[in-house]
Amino acid sequence: MNFVTTQEAWRLIDSYITAKLPTEEVFLGDSLGRILVEDVFAPFDEPAFDKALKDGYAYNSQDLQPEVVAVQRAGEDLGRSYAKGECVKIMTGAVVPKEFDALVPVEDAKIVENRLQITAKVAQNICYQGEYLLKGAKILAKNEKITPQIVGILASVGKKKAQVFRKPKVGVLVTGDELVESFSQLEQGKKFDSNSPMLALQIAELGAEPIEYRVVADTLQETTDAIEKAVRECDLVLSSGGASMGDYDYIPKALENLQAKFEFKKIKFKPGKPTFFATVKGTPYFALPGNPVSSFVVFNLFVTRLIKKMLAQDSQPKSFLLPMGKRFVRSIDLDRQEYRPANIVDGKIEVADFVNSGHLQALAGAQGLVEIPAGQKELPSGSKQRFCWFV
Ligand code: AMP
Ligand code: MG
Repeated sequence: MNFVTTQEAWRLIDSYITAKLPTEEVFLGDSLGRILVEDVFAPFDEPAFDKALKDGYAYNSQDLQPEVVAVQRAGEDLGRSYAKGECVKIMTGAVVPKEFDALVPVEDAKIVENRLQITAKVAQNICYQGEYLLKGAKILAKNEKITPQIVGILASVGKKKAQVFRKPKVGVLVTGDELVESFSQLEQGKKFDSNSPMLALQIAELGAEPIEYRVVADTLQETTDAIEKAVRECDLVLSSGGASMGDYDYIPKALENLQAKFEFKKIKFKPGKPTFFATVKGTPYFALPGNPVSSFVVFNLFVTRLIKKMLAQDSQPKSFLLPMGKRFVRSIDLDRQEYRPANIVDGKIEVADFVNSGHLQALAGAQGLVEIPAGQKELPSGSKQRFCWFV
C-alpha cells in the first residue's frame, strides 16, 4: 500500500503488531501517567470497620437520654464494652462500638448532666464495614492509566509502588541543513529546529520516553546511519523532514537502503501528505513531514494511535460533532480531506487563522482540529462538524 486514505492509515496502524513492553516497578510519586500492568484487589474490607461519619455521640437508638461514659477518638481501640443506657462521645473516622446503631452529630446534641439529648432529626451517620468494597474485590484493572486519584486508591490499600509498563523509547531524528541551534548560526535562510522539542513533548505527554537525536545532515550516508542507530536503540522512531521530492530529501532512499517494509508512503490528507509508516529492522518507523504544523498534526492523528496501542490504551481519538461558529471556506486542495487547527468557543468550532503548514503560530491556543471532508469547500455556520481534541 502506498497512497492511503486516513481511514486506511488508521486501520494499518491499529492492526500493526508491536512488541510487548517489559514491566518495571515505580514509586507512586513517580507513577503519574504510567500504565498499570496488573489488576489490583482489595486486601481488606473498606471501610475495614464500622466507621463514624461525624464528630458526635454514638448510641443505641433504643435508649432514651443515655449517659456519656467514654470518648472514642479515631485510630484508637478503647477495648471496652457498653451497657444498656450508655453511649460514647466519638470522632469522625473512629470505630463505632458494636453496641451502637446510631450517631448524632455534635451540632444536633445537647449534654445535660452527662446525658445525651438529641435536638434534631438525625441520619444514622455510620458507614458499615465493607460498604465501599469487600476484601478480594477488583479495585483497579490492568492497563489503567495512573492519575492522582488512582494513586490515592493504590495508597489506600497500602501500596508504595506500582507495577507498570516500561515507557516506550521513541527516537526523534530531525533532518535539514537549514536547521540551527543558536542565534550566532542564524544566517539568512537558516531557522531554528522547532520539531525536536515539540515532538519530544508530544511523546512525553502520552507517557512515552523521547530520545532526541537532534539534527541529521541532509546526506544519504548520515541519514541512513542515523536511522540505523535509532531503530536499534528505540521501540519506535520518528523523523521529521527530508521525506518528500526535494533533491536533498534522503529519508525515502535511506529507508530503501535499510530494506524497510512499508505500510504506507503517503496519506491522502492535509497537512502532511508525505508521511511514511514502515518497519525498519524490526522497529516501527514514521517519517513525518518537516513543516512544523504538519509534523504536529501527523503526530497527533497517526503516531499517537501507535504509541497508545503500545501502552495498551484505547487508541481512538476523542472526537465530537459540534456546530460551527463562523462559516469556514477553503480555496485549494478541495479534493483532499483536511484538518485545521481550531478552538471551541461557547460550544462552537472556531477555525484558527492559518496561512500554511509552516505557520506554527496557528497552533497557539488551538485545542484540536476540525475535519474538513474531501470535496467540501465550505463548512457553513451552524453545521455540525467533527472536532478532534489534541492528545
Ligand atoms: P522538508 O520536509 O525537509 O522538505 O521541510 C519542509 C519545511 O519544513 C522546510 O521549510 C523546512 O525548513 C521546515 N522544517 C523541516 N524540519 C524542521 C524542523 N525540525 N523545525 C522547523 N522547521 C523545519
Ligand atoms: Mg529538509
